[in-house]
Amino acid sequence: MAEKILIFDTTLRDAEQTPGAALNGAEKLAIAKHLANLNVDVIEAGFPRSSPADFEAVKQIANEVEGPEICALSRIVEKDITDAWEAIKDSTRPRIHTFVGTSEIHIQGIMRSNRETILQRSTEAVGYARSLCATVEFSPMDAARTEPDYLFQIVEATIEAGASIINIPDTVGYAIPSEFGRLIAEIRQNVQNIDRAIISVHCHNDLGLAVANSIEAIKNGARQIECTVNGLGERAGNTSLEEIVMAIRTRRNHFGGVYTDVNASEIVPISRLVSRTMGIPVAPNKAIVGANAFAHSSGIHQDGVIKQRDTFEIINPKEVGLQESQIILSPRSGRNALRHRLSILGYEIEPEQMDSVYDRFLALADKKKEVHDADLEAIMRDEIRTIPVSEAAYRFDHIQIFSGNNISSTATVGLQTADGIVTEAATGDGPVNATYRAIDRVTDLPLKLSDYSIRSVTEGKDAIGEVTVKVEDKGRLIVGHGASTDIIEASAKAYINAINKVIHSQENAGS
Ligand SMILES: [Zn+2]
Repeated sequence: MAEKILIFDTTLRDAEQTPGAALNGAEKLAIAKHLANLNVDVIEAGFPRSSPADFEAVKQIANEVEGPEICALSRIVEKDITDAWEAIKDSTRPRIHTFVGTSEIHIQGIMRSNRETILQRSTEAVGYARSLCATVEFSPMDAARTEPDYLFQIVEATIEAGASIINIPDTVGYAIPSEFGRLIAEIRQNVQNIDRAIISVHCHNDLGLAVANSIEAIKNGARQIECTVNGLGERAGNTSLEEIVMAIRTRRNHFGGVYTDVNASEIVPISRLVSRTMGIPVAPNKAIVGANAFAHSSGIHQDGVIKQRDTFEIINPKEVGLQESQIILSPRSGRNALRHRLSILGYEIEPEQMDSVYDRFLALADKKKEVHDADLEAIMRDEIRTIPVSEAAYRFDHIQIFSGNNISSTATVGLQTADGIVTEAATGDGPVNATYRAIDRVTDLPLKLSDYSIRSVTEGKDAIGEVTVKVEDKGRLIVGHGASTDIIEASAKAYINAINKVIHSQENAGS
């Protein structure tokens, strides 16, 4: 009989630890809602003990996201577990995930403890978690480097204490598929009560083997895969959700009929959402979700795919949510056509937002005549702010630039503030630098610009430019986006967006 593989998404926990990828509560909630549409089985929403902001974010996800189990991470420490439970207890399907390092390096080097103590503390922690929550997952961190007999012992003891999911992490991405598969087989052979638990794996990609190791684990009996959208995560990242899901789907017979419940057509949309929210671009050659994943450049391949798709394509791009035939909107397209197209792209427009979206669409359609999906997505990325417009401290109003190759640039920027429009001018090394200096004069916030990137979202000279910036605020990186057919305006909007986020997070820091 076909067996289901549970998909445990840890984008909001493991991937959120990626340098520069920190998200605010609204951004986490938006991704969690999309993960629910993707129909993953478990969302690891965060590590509540790690910060008050993470606690609040997990709590909001637990309260508002229906469908998947909502999981919170904790060390084997009572106050961690209590916090994890407090954050998720209002979810209809809560799960506590508790972990401790079990390799000698972790036990002695980090915990400064010994095997007996760690074993005892782990069973106590699982027992305590179980007294609060019906579903408890235990992870012996660095399992791939843990002495096998000790690993079997601690797995058996924590199942006895009430863990119903045992996760085997290859924390440092050191394992090789055949060896990792053997470890899973050995756990099944040597742990007496293993049939009372689901075996999960959590692989890191330091050797580029995370997906391969996860596949080998499935073949040896693992039934939950921990993974992240776009394979993001600590260092080289985690098992990539889209790759493991599509490998199982595309090669189902090879796996003896296992399947996942993931709604594959949401794969490309969530990949884009996560990439733009975290400000981490997807490599063009990335499997499944990269821009070139379905682009055939050789003439022989193009000819083959046109005559019969499966000559050179193992996956139909539509299956993962890539729209093949793009409907193009024009200046004559009405509000309904726009609303319909946006809903296909995954954007539900609030009535009060529609006027402003439609105005921007018309302005663009007048300039470009043909508006493609990518243009609409750029408008929406620019329009949909994680901070409601009414709460944004600054809004872009106007800009004027004086620039040339042998003069210093001058920018005059007007921002809408609570006190009306404030205008400032500054000179700088190039028009973007001058613009940012002028904005700094209005906002008077000491921010360091740590990254600036620009890309065109469509082809042609009238393309929309999309700017992504990262600014540093007290050691945290905040991502801002802006889009316009004018790249200086897009640059200004991206910077203002980041500034608004910084102010918003400072205002909410005390609560
Ligand atoms: Zn990890």
